[in-house]
Amino acid sequence: MSCGIKRIFAQNLIEMSTNRTFTMIKPDAVENGHIGGILDKITSAGFKIVAMKYTQLSKRDAQEFYAIHKERPFFGELVEFMTRGPIVAAILEKDNAVEDFRALIGATNPADAAEGTIRKMYATSIGENAVHGSDSDENAAIEGAFHFSGREIF
Ligand code: ATP
Ligand code: MG
Repeated sequence: MSCGIKRIFAQNLIEMSTNRTFTMIKPDAVENGHIGGILDKITSAGFKIVAMKYTQLSKRDAQEFYAIHKERPFFGELVEFMTRGPIVAAILEKDNAVEDFRALIGATNPADAAEGTIRKMYATSIGENAVHGSDSDENAAIEGAFHFSGREIF
């Protein structure tokens, strides 16, 4: 590879790693009829949807997705919750996507979430908190690849 091509390749990787995040509209928000409201908040905040599907996690999917929490006391409850109904999974694009999306969704516990955030508006409890947002660029890439093939990302 020539130096110029290498530089462009590296630049693309850097850009890819900082401008995408992964989200799920969780079963509680789907059950409560908030898909449209949440997608409106997301697109109004300047995120572009580059992949999206309506799907349901199996127990194994949820255990793998949230494996980092497997020793926590709420793990069983979390897996039950995340598998009890359909979710919307999506990859979102925007400058500074991971950080900006975490700001848009608000704190894990809706009681602590800032006014106007998605969790303040739509979450009901710390467990049933309406949306997921990746917590790092690395996890955004892993989580996006967990749900989507290359052909499903635009
Ligand atoms: P997410 O990863 O879903 O975006 P988060 O990063 O804000 O949420 P984490 O600490 O990663 O929060 O926890 C993952 C999920 O586990 C939470 O979103 C929530 O659904 C559940 N959870 C976290 N803490 C608790 C708790 N104390 N009791 C019950 N459920 C919890
Ligand atoms: Mg998390």
